[in-house]
Amino acid sequence: MARTFDTVTVLGTGVLGTQIIMQAAWHGKKVFAYDAFPAALEKLSDRWAWIRQGYEQDLPDYTPEKFDEALTRIVPTSDLKEAVGDVDIVIEAVPENLDLKRKIWAEVGELADERTLLATNTSSLLPSDFADASGHTDRFLAIHYANRVWTRNTAEVMGTAKTSEESVQAAIQFAEETGMVPVHVRKEQPGYLLNSLLIPWLHAGAKLYVTETGTPEEIDKAWTIATGTKAGPFAAFDMVGFNVASHIALANDDETVREFGTKLQKALDAGFSGVADRKGFYLYDENGKITGANDYWTEDFDK
Ligand code: NAD
Repeated sequence: MARTFDTVTVLGTGVLGTQIIMQAAWHGKKVFAYDAFPAALEKLSDRWAWIRQGYEQDLPDYTPEKFDEALTRIVPTSDLKEAVGDVDIVIEAVPENLDLKRKIWAEVGELADERTLLATNTSSLLPSDFADASGHTDRFLAIHYANRVWTRNTAEVMGTAKTSEESVQAAIQFAEETGMVPVHVRKEQPGYLLNSLLIPWLHAGAKLYVTETGTPEEIDKAWTIATGTKAGPFAAFDMVGFNVASHIALANDDETVREFGTKLQKALDAGFSGVADRKGFYLYDENGKITGANDYWTEDFDK
């Protein structure tokens, strides 16, 4: 019998969590938006404003009324029991930290109903690194979204050796019901399909920058013009956001890539993290369009 997915919970209301929340609400689901930090919930109206602009720009069926109606289906909460006690699927989008993910999944595993499908949006960890923490490995898998969920709408569905086939099929069904194009990753693979391609490419750009072989703008130009694509690695770093990008770079085996991670962290300390702040390697207008390079990154360059 086909599953029903009427109620959804997203854990973590950051860059990706809020996009997943809106994607589900836009497609008619009731969504609990859970965050452990009230400050994150207070920022929600800013997040919706940013996502609204993306919908308006990218989706032909956008209307302000439809977006407002979707917002009424979202229930912000910092009460974990309320959030996960009686829902059809829980999708976790908390920061990329193994201990944190194990901790929250242990709590959710205790509180969630036995029908609930359990999904993580981790980018660089494997679901089998923490599936056991939930206590329900048969119902646990990854559904991996890409940034700008509403338009770059792939959902990489990847189980572990212990995930049931029924759960994999249910995740594919949920993805389709919420306007996503499911891509089944048939073996557990660090980085899924997308990041197995993307991360080596980003880090190649990072190394060219750290070694002062090119400025971010020069490196991006070499890539975009010659390949006919829209974004080079530094525009892509801005889209990913420095929070996630710095964690991944700092965990890399290559010293030069780790040095890049430290530079991203310094930028975070200085108060900017990419497109979401309208300031990253580039500066952005209110529609997310690049207005120029951010000179911060080339201040110390040899001329
Ligand atoms: P983020 O830092 O923007 O947001 C994380 C949110 O989690 C914050 O709102 C924070 O307050 C909240 N949080 C922290 N501890 C929590 C806890 N114990 N319980 C509940 N909420 C908690 O991070 P993000 O970029 O949205 O990434 C989240 C996850 O999504 C990561 O696993 C990341 O790898 C993955 N992801 C990110 C991207 C991307 O492009 N940013 C793409 C795909 C997947």
